[in-house]
Amino acid sequence: MPTYRAPIDDYRFLLTEVFDTAKLATYPGYEEVTPDLLASVVEEAGKLCETLLFPLNMSGDAEGCTWENGVVRAPKGFKEAFKQYADAGWIGLACDPAFGGQGLPIVMRYVVDEMVCAANLSLAMYPGLTQGAFETIHVHATADLKAKYLPRMATGEWTATMCLTEAHAGTDLGMIRTRAEPLDDGSASISGTKIFITAGEHDLAGNIIHLVLAKLPDAPAGSRGISMFLVPKFLDNPDGSLGAPNGVSCGSIEHKMGIKGSATCVINFDNAKGWLVGERHKGLKAMFTMMNGARLGVGIQGLGLADASYHSAVAYARERLQGRSLSGVKNPEGPADPIIEHADIRRGLLFMRAFVEGARALTVFCAMHLDDEFRSPDADARAHAADLVALLTPVIKAFFTDFGFECTNIGLQTLGGHGYIREYGMEQYVRDARIGRIYAGTNRVQALDLVGRKLPEGGGRLLTRYARLVAEEVAASRAIPELVAHADVLAAAAKQLQEVTMTLGMRAMKNGDEAGAGASEYLRFLGFVAIGHMWLKACRTAVERKAAGGTFDAAWYDTKLATARFYFTRMMPQCAALAAAVQAGAAPIIDFPKDRF
Ligand SMILES: Cc1cc2nc3c(=O)[nH]c(=O)nc-3n(C[C@H](O)[C@H](O)[C@H](O)COP(=O)(O)OP(=O)(O)OC[C@H]3O[C@@H](n4cnc5c(N)ncnc54)[C@H](O)[C@@H]3O)c2cc1C
Repeated sequence: MPTYRAPIDDYRFLLTEVFDTAKLATYPGYEEVTPDLLASVVEEAGKLCETLLFPLNMSGDAEGCTWENGVVRAPKGFKEAFKQYADAGWIGLACDPAFGGQGLPIVMRYVVDEMVCAANLSLAMYPGLTQGAFETIHVHATADLKAKYLPRMATGEWTATMCLTEAHAGTDLGMIRTRAEPLDDGSASISGTKIFITAGEHDLAGNIIHLVLAKLPDAPAGSRGISMFLVPKFLDNPDGSLGAPNGVSCGSIEHKMGIKGSATCVINFDNAKGWLVGERHKGLKAMFTMMNGARLGVGIQGLGLADASYHSAVAYARERLQGRSLSGVKNPEGPADPIIEHADIRRGLLFMRAFVEGARALTVFCAMHLDDEFRSPDADARAHAADLVALLTPVIKAFFTDFGFECTNIGLQTLGGHGYIREYGMEQYVRDARIGRIYAGTNRVQALDLVGRKLPEGGGRLLTRYARLVAEEVAASRAIPELVAHADVLAAAAKQLQEVTMTLGMRAMKNGDEAGAGASEYLRFLGFVAIGHMWLKACRTAVERKAAGGTFDAAWYDTKLATARFYFTRMMPQCAALAAAVQAGAAPIIDFPKDRF
């Protein structure tokens, strides 16, 4: 049976020692926030994940969702667990208190997300989408819509979806056919069919609020003609009680490889009443509030699953006796050594650990910049933060889900044949992790977003600003003798990244295929640098705290430094190969005749 242990200590390290969370108290609305408060929230969330959500993970996978005559049921126990989670205020954790939220910093939404996704990804989808829709309605909707819908979403009384995809329009949303006909009362009549809608129908909440992309009759062609509408499953009565059904029905649910407890639905809109959110024809832009949050959230799913898989793999590797260590017997009383004595098993476990802890630090770093972007009183800080979040969002989405999937595979492999057997729970992590590379925009689409939009923006401003932060960390770490070697590795990679960026940019200006051919490897390269940046920062904190006396004992900080050593010496070298691949250009790909595939 798999085990899950919430990463309470690591988050305490990040939130009270590595990052300056004390500054959050200077932001309006966060006056009561202290680093210790944040760490105690993590502790509470961790307990809930271990005791409430995780025990339903395997049973939810085995049972899956059911659809009968349009009625969808989540697996046994989900409804009660969701209610307990919602009643305790976790959905509204970082939502505006004016609409029923708890008003904690945004960073906490993503911190808690990691543990919830690790414990039970399927169940996590229902509150996750609701939080994203809350933010989107909060930013773009009218005061009336906000007052009517947000308080019930913050408490989980109602959940929400994002309805973009249609059978013929996935990545290319400009081709959607769902129509919106304006009605005399200012609303619109929505008709069309959306597919693959997560949490589109279920039995966890009384109402479901769909955010739907549709086209008005006078819409310009393509993606510039898309509008966004709020379409509830049930209309409401003047007294606020649930009213008549609203022309929204579930045509079927998908039978999927993973996240089986998350209902993935075909949703039919038949003259359903909807209300415009944001400006006419600018719905895609408004939907990006939700999509950007979803991209970070999906990246964090990869992180959470990698961590969950890691803990079970370590527990197994300590127990399982097979063969003898190549450097001599380690367990002379037993018939064989535990497999954790084999160097290659340890390599796999360290790969997982170094990814997980580095990615977790990057999550906190990026999410704290979201707080800067939306709450800092300093306009410059807000602009800088917005740039950094824009640059890192596709990296976190794609790098974390690629590596999350890889880590769950390593976790499975650690158990050998037992990893392939259901009762050990490791194959579920692999299946659940696979979707992260596809939804919320496939990973190659993230790479294109990075190379095609984020790099050229403002003449390379985003990367230039980010490179400055990396250089500052390198300089600070070089002052600590034991970190000089790591700092040199990061500095060299950052320099090479700049060179590759120049080459790619120049070539892409002449031929778009150059951007497309190098984008995925480029994104991975930047991902390694970004996590290296975090590891260096974590190392510096560990060295300083170990010397000055921190929250943890010396062995704890030494373990951090040992994990970082693996990252810089055994993982960062991949940057050179990625750089070489990007430098090789598009020709080896594009010159291959397509009729020879
Ligand atoms: C379990 C699940 C849950 C989902 N939940 C939701 C949801 O809640 N709401 C929602 O609206 N959608 C949802 N989706 C849809 C998901 O976001 C899409 O599947 C995804 O965006 C890809 O679209 P597609 O499947 O149509 O693939 P396509 O767009 O047809 O792409 C096929 C392949 O071509 C590649 N490709 C496409 N265009 C380009 C390009 N320009 N350049 C390079 N490569 C390209 C893609 O990367 C992909 O590998 C969900 C899907 C699944 C499977």
